[in-house]
Amino acid sequence: MDVVVIGGGVNGAGVARDASMRGLSVALFERNDLAFGASGNSSGMIHGGARYLTYDPHVTETSCRDSGNIQAIAPHLLFRIPFLMPVRKGIAKNIYFHLLDAFFETYDRYQPLKRGKTHAVLSADEVRSLEPGIAGDLVGAMSFDEWGIDGARLCVANALDAKERGAKLFIGVTVEAVERREGSGEPVAVRYRDRLTGASGRLTTTAVVNATGAWSPITAGLAGMRPANARVRPGKGIHVIYDRRLSNYAISGSAIDGRQIFIEPWQNMTIVGTTDDDYYGDLDDVRATSEEVRYLVQGAARVFPSIRSARPIGTYAGVRPTLYSWGKYEDNLSRDHQVIDHAPHGAPNIYSMIGGKLASYRLFAEDMTDVLAQRFDLGVHATTHTSPLPGGDRAVDPFAFAERAGVDAVAARRIVYRHGSRAERIEERIARRPREAVTVCACEPVIEAEVRYVVREEHPRTVADVARRTRLGLGACGGMRCAARCGQIVAEELGLPPREGLRQAARFLVQRAGARVVALGPDQARQEALAIASARSELGLGDDLDDEASE
Ligand SMILES: Cc1cc2nc3c(=O)[nH]c(=O)nc-3n(C[C@H](O)[C@H](O)[C@H](O)COP(=O)(O)OP(=O)(O)OC[C@H]3O[C@@H](n4cnc5c(N)ncnc54)[C@H](O)[C@@H]3O)c2cc1C
Repeated sequence: MDVVVIGGGVNGAGVARDASMRGLSVALFERNDLAFGASGNSSGMIHGGARYLTYDPHVTETSCRDSGNIQAIAPHLLFRIPFLMPVRKGIAKNIYFHLLDAFFETYDRYQPLKRGKTHAVLSADEVRSLEPGIAGDLVGAMSFDEWGIDGARLCVANALDAKERGAKLFIGVTVEAVERREGSGEPVAVRYRDRLTGASGRLTTTAVVNATGAWSPITAGLAGMRPANARVRPGKGIHVIYDRRLSNYAISGSAIDGRQIFIEPWQNMTIVGTTDDDYYGDLDDVRATSEEVRYLVQGAARVFPSIRSARPIGTYAGVRPTLYSWGKYEDNLSRDHQVIDHAPHGAPNIYSMIGGKLASYRLFAEDMTDVLAQRFDLGVHATTHTSPLPGGDRAVDPFAFAERAGVDAVAARRIVYRHGSRAERIEERIARRPREAVTVCACEPVIEAEVRYVVREEHPRTVADVARRTRLGLGACGGMRCAARCGQIVAEELGLPPREGLRQAARFLVQRAGARVVALGPDQARQEALAIASARSELGLGDDLDDEASE
């Protein structure tokens, strides 16, 4: 191989794609699943980051610019999110309102880069007519606009494109060591192990890119370097999930310590986020706590009280691989990105990608690949901003798709959202086997043909991986109605014993319950425990799953 990329988050998948497009032979290793880390657990915004304008305008500029590029290459994956930022009355608040107006005037200048709308100043009456659920005696609100995205789909699309351009994907396979040549310190090979089968191997390579996000210091250690050579300031963020869109506007508010938080309509649900706390725990098992949930819900309820009577259906958590800085308050850390060349650390041809954002991943990948292009003397520039990602080449009408395929219009809409023009490949499956139009997950909804297509084409190995790609089981029922069927399909398609499919389903249910229980009251939590126990006994599976689920 010319390059081994370690880490299948958005940055690793982005580099694998760019480097393959420029003609390098590439292998991408991901220890868990594509988008398992921060990329699949973010706030899901391809935004400009208005907040960064005050201390890092360069990041706002690059995020807005790359957001525009991402829209061009994956238009099917983006959706507009209008924001309301209400301001309460009070002398200081009145002045603050005018300052905010001036601030957003500056932000407006960046909006054309991402096809954003300029901000609007709304009176209190206008705010209430748009969203009657907003509480407080208001001066008014600023409205501005951002783009949402499914980060997991973005990772998958980049990895698939890389594969179609010749890259080898090793998903669920962890790099255990980077062998280096004595003397020069250059990489020779990576040693790896499949975490499901236990099979191990070795792959020779000329260069290594460490794109492991918050794991970067650990990965530096695997290459025999000091962890501090690829230092990050890991910032844990959690979200609470609600089972529907509680508002069609994202509403920003503040938590008890003054931190900005938001209630965001995202796909067909609502998320409340997010926290930002230094994190030193297990990166393979990041979970929201009930304290973090209460902190967010308390802040959200202050601006949107009815959130307290809405039904939380879960939580998720991720760790930001933020650029290292000592002594800074987490919120004020730079969201910029950096390519580290480890030659000064005695390891030429090994590079680490630190920091960044989903919104500027493509640019970060381009910066990294420019370094590789120079190393390999390629003289080829990136075209990742003009070449569509898989499915992004043309629009498909979901209603026509629904009619032709004989599936429900909502299911069709969701398939087209996730797969763009590749939805037609799912349609072809249905044309050959009409019974695959049957719904597997009613909450999202997801049909059987999509599950089978994804298992064959997108490298999932477990029910949880299918959920990441299709959102199956991530809705209100938490997988209770669909995980077992999905497990059967995964087992059939991958040639696994049927019992393995059931084990995977049960493991998924236990994981979902664990993420849900911290957002529930004690009575609901008891009900959930009973439901899970009965699901396990129906599937004939025992307590050993507890250990597996937390592996
Ligand atoms: C709560 C939260 C909210 C956010 N919101 C936004 C937002 O709205 N918009 C935005 O633009 N950005 C947002 N971000 C930031 C953004 O998500 C991250 O900057 C970005 O996803 C980082 O991508 P990455 O590829 O570097 O890391 P990750 O996505 O974390 O990927 C690293 C991968 O490396 C793998 N790995 C680790 N070790 C190994 C090994 N030895 N072998 C093989 N694989 C390995 C891991 O399994 C993991 O999948 C948010 C982040 C968080 C946590």
